[in-house]
Amino acid sequence: MSTIDPHIHMVSRTTDDYRALALAGIRTLTEPAFWAGFDRGCAAGFRDYFEQLTVAEPARAAKFGIRHYAWICLNPKEAEDLSLAREVLAIIPEFLDHPNVLGVGEIGLNKNSRNELRVLEEHIAIAAERSELILVHTPHLEDKHKGTRLIMDAIRNEPRIDPNRVIIDHGEEHTVPEIRDRGFWVGLTLYPDSKCSPARAVDILEIHGTDRVWLNSAADWGESDPLATVKAAQEMRMRGHPEAAVRKVFWENPVAFLSQCPKFQA
Ligand SMILES: [Zn+2]
Repeated sequence: MSTIDPHIHMVSRTTDDYRALALAGIRTLTEPAFWAGFDRGCAAGFRDYFEQLTVAEPARAAKFGIRHYAWICLNPKEAEDLSLAREVLAIIPEFLDHPNVLGVGEIGLNKNSRNELRVLEEHIAIAAERSELILVHTPHLEDKHKGTRLIMDAIRNEPRIDPNRVIIDHGEEHTVPEIRDRGFWVGLTLYPDSKCSPARAVDILEIHGTDRVWLNSAADWGESDPLATVKAAQEMRMRGHPEAAVRKVFWENPVAFLSQCPKFQA
């Protein structure tokens, strides 16, 4: 069965990872812009990164028969320097026009600070202006519940944005029901330390159902697992879920959400 990992940071991964993804049947990837592990010092550094996401990485993926899409934004961790943030916001629209870019992401909050919120609102305005899909990062651990609510409020304050065209990622047990009740899609992230194990993610699916949800590895430069989605699919099978349910979570749901952008082809 072909599957999609809708949130993975391939700029941080090796060519061997591409080979492993292809062998495991992962045929399509989407890669949100994120924090490099250090703060970039100037807008030109972001331009180079956006070039990598829109030109270099799709070519690297294509060698393995994998379709690569990207999302463009400034990460909330880099929102504190407002003058640099605004220089970067100014170059984002030209990259949103690129044929492999599906929307604005992963935007959101990290420490829920005032400047982060301001930059979030400016991203939301760009998305509204251009009718872009939005992929949202939610804060970790103790900041998650408050941060998720602040982000949803900021998006719902923009009447031009349809919440069905927004995915709120890194959902957990205490945020999944509210995210979907407010009309958004929800993402569950399979990450060894701070996020869900495959078993915990499948528990959440069993409790809350499989509508308007996708699972992703968010594999990056930290300890993470690019094959995590395949392991979660296997966890579903081992618990006796039918193949149709597995296909819904790992193919039909992400295709349904992403196809709202006309550039996306499964
Ligand atoms: Zn990410």
